[in-house]
Amino acid sequence: MKVTEHLRRAEGKTLFSFEVLPPRKGENIHTLFSNIEPLMEFKPPFIDVTYHREEFVLRERPGGLLQRKAVRKRPGTVGICAAIKNRFDVDTVPHLICGGFAKEETENALIDLHFLGIDNVLALRGDPIKSEGHFQPHPDGHRYACDLIGQISELNHGRYHDHDEQYQPAGAEPILSTDFCIGTAGYPEKHFEAPNFGSDIRFLKEKVDRGADYIVTQMFFDNEEFFKFERRCRDAGITVPIIPGLKPLTTKSQLTALPRAFFLNIPETLAEAIHGAKDNAAAREVGIEWCLNQSRELMAHGVPCLHYYSMGKSEAIRRVAAGLF
Ligand code: FAD
Repeated sequence: MKVTEHLRRAEGKTLFSFEVLPPRKGENIHTLFSNIEPLMEFKPPFIDVTYHREEFVLRERPGGLLQRKAVRKRPGTVGICAAIKNRFDVDTVPHLICGGFAKEETENALIDLHFLGIDNVLALRGDPIKSEGHFQPHPDGHRYACDLIGQISELNHGRYHDHDEQYQPAGAEPILSTDFCIGTAGYPEKHFEAPNFGSDIRFLKEKVDRGADYIVTQMFFDNEEFFKFERRCRDAGITVPIIPGLKPLTTKSQLTALPRAFFLNIPETLAEAIHGAKDNAAAREVGIEWCLNQSRELMAHGVPCLHYYSMGKSEAIRRVAAGLF
């Protein structure tokens, strides 16, 4: 079922969802299942599965020549989504990115997802890979998420990227059209490349106009940032549901790692409390308590769903969910 349909059926009750990472190459899917299992008692209507692009490494060949080789550490998003769906009878939301994909490959992935009964996708641009200074689209791919959303919307209308009459001769059976519910990313603290909030919200509106059905936000630790972002979206005429993304801090090192990776702020009060905790176990308690308070306030505000970033670990999220649902 579509994410938007789950939200509609909840009739104003806040839902619980979370995001998982596909297992690293060589790892067993049962590790992932055992991470998901403890969260199933909170009845998530959908689970997101992130997509991880290849990185390029240099390998030395006999004779000393260096060979540039693409390496993917977490392959298999499509298969993982189908496996989770079948194992837990839950909807899955595969993340689909522009980076590294030709339009035809995107189309093939969408057709596979459709045949597997997956009704949702989160359409993203993807970050630049480490060897790129800035994001480089595939020569036959998309530069921005709005173009990927446009392609998915077209397929929802039975129009293939290389639309050609030969696929649909007069009088023939109707061709396959998909019916994906499309999610898109929003940034309460602005996307790091956007020159200002105004332009970021304008492009977010464009993503919605091209077919995005709902927005999931980057994680944030200050609800005021979310409330301001939500107001900016509504003022710009964006009416689709906005789902806040949250993460409980669980280690002291995340105080610097998360701002570096995601370009976000950690409020002084939280940062000082984590910093002053006697060890990581105590820091984790602070992080969980903060996330619980954030979640309670967002629920009282009436958000349609609370979406948690597991980053491969579910225990802290289970503690937060147990305090709420
Ligand atoms: P876009 O919407 O394309 O925006 C990128 C930048 O370009 C922004 O600054 C925007 O303002 C600007 N822009 C947008 N459209 C235009 C336009 N038409 N003309 C000019 N400028 C424009 N990454 C992964 O690799 N895998 C994942 O699974 C993943 N999951 C994510 C889930 C969520 C909820 C979020 C918030 C992010 C996720 N990311 C993931 C990270 C994401 O790929 C990066 O943040 C990326 O840098 C931007 O992606 P986007 O879809 O927001 O891009």
